Amino acid sequence: MDSHEATLQGTAPPPDLADLAAPMLRAYLAERDEPCPACRYNLRGLLSDHCPECNQALRLRVGLVEPRLGWFLAAVIGASAGLGLNLLLLIYFVIVTAMRRGGPPGYFLLHNLVGSIIHGACVFLLLRYGPRIRRAPLPSRVLLTAAMWGLCAVNIVLFSLFIR
Ligand SMILES: [Zn+2]
Repeated sequence: MDSHEATLQGTAPPPDLADLAAPMLRAYLAERDEPCPACRYNLRGLLSDHCPECNQALRLRVGLVEPRLGWFLAAVIGASAGLGLNLLLLIYFVIVTAMRRGGPPGYFLLHNLVGSIIHGACVFLLLRYGPRIRRAPLPSRVLLTAAMWGLCAVNIVLFSLFIR
């Protein structure tokens, strides 16, 4: 009885995937010029699962053609820029008020509190739903990034207009 028949009858344990990985790595590299990720040594024709040059353990894995991080990161940076601005101005407000020099007008506090909450919620939602956002079509990701930076611009314009 060979192992295939044994598996069908449920008498043999399932094959260990780790035992299959090394032959697949060797088969993949048999005909391909691939550099070692650590030392760039050409691994073509590799016979073990370690780089012969730097001795790092190697494995075969699945990767995305496009990591889709660019627009997502640009959106996170836009939302974080607005949050950072409002938080810094709130810290400034606390310091000025503590020094009792007749703190800035009420709108200053209101603008930066509301801004911090809106931008903070954006940062939270972007990080919370990051994987789903990165799978969205390109136009949606571009629009989201534009919205985050647009919100940041509105934040700065409103602050400049109403703070004297
Ligand atoms: Zn190497």
